[in-house]
Amino acid sequence: MKPSRDSLGNSGIWRLLWQLQLPPKVLNFLWRASTNSLPTRFNLSTKHVPIAATCLFCLAAPETILHVLVRCSFARSCWSKVPVTVVVPDAMLFSSWFEAVLVSWNSAEALEAGMVCWSVWTRRNELVWNFKHPDASEVVAMAKLNYVEWFNAQKSSSLIEQIHLHTRPIMQEVQKEYQ
Ligand SMILES: [Zn+2]
Repeated sequence: MKPSRDSLGNSGIWRLLWQLQLPPKVLNFLWRASTNSLPTRFNLSTKHVPIAATCLFCLAAPETILHVLVRCSFARSCWSKVPVTVVVPDAMLFSSWFEAVLVSWNSAEALEAGMVCWSVWTRRNELVWNFKHPDASEVVAMAKLNYVEWFNAQKSSSLIEQIHLHTRPIMQEVQKEYQ
């Protein structure tokens, strides 16, 4: 199922989530994390996939979404590199953690944290599929790089749209003259 603003209503976490100006792939990822739909090892093991539920970053706890993105020692070393508070002691699920932090963050913090969540998960997949060594500095750098690339692409595409909008009437005039 694809994320849809209509199917999820317009309240609480969903309203806050859809307000974030983030790349669509990151919003989609955060939506899947908040609905417990990521194929973590814990989630797979509860669906009778013959796999150990243990987190591959720390090998010390079941890989739930909240664990791998927030509580894991590797995730914590990534979070320590960004000026965002992520402590919600009583959260049991990613969605309750995310809702609690979203209301406390300003928009810049929310954008940065959303990108870091996505980047931690991307790095987790690199570890699972390509045995790539986890590196917290690279996770944070990739989060920033992806955001900046997307932001600049947005800016330049809206600039191109504006140029088209302004030059179209002129071009039509020019074409008329030559017809
Ligand atoms: Zn872990």
